Amino acid sequence: MNSSMSKKMWRKALKEHFDCTCVYCGKTYDLSILTLDHVIPRSAGGETIASNIVPACEKCNQKKASKPYLEFMRTTFGENRLREYVLEKHTQ
Ligand SMILES: [Zn+2]
Repeated sequence: MNSSMSKKMWRKALKEHFDCTCVYCGKTYDLSILTLDHVIPRSAGGETIASNIVPACEKCNQKKASKPYLEFMRTTFGENRLREYVLEKHTQ
């Protein structure tokens, strides 16, 4: 297996782990449409490791940009304990 193939599989597995939902808005998307987002942005020292990568739709990904995820979620969707829990669990 070459590395680009394992990278592709890793990306797919992450999306499937979240049932192909955007972690921020909670909507389900097609695998090919979902993007992957760094919970802690690379610019803030976030690593490219599974616990810092989550599936996000393009809209949320762009809107979140380099904001802290809680700030982005609460200002955009209001407080949603379930969605926040899913993220907290993954990033711990
Ligand atoms: Zn979304």
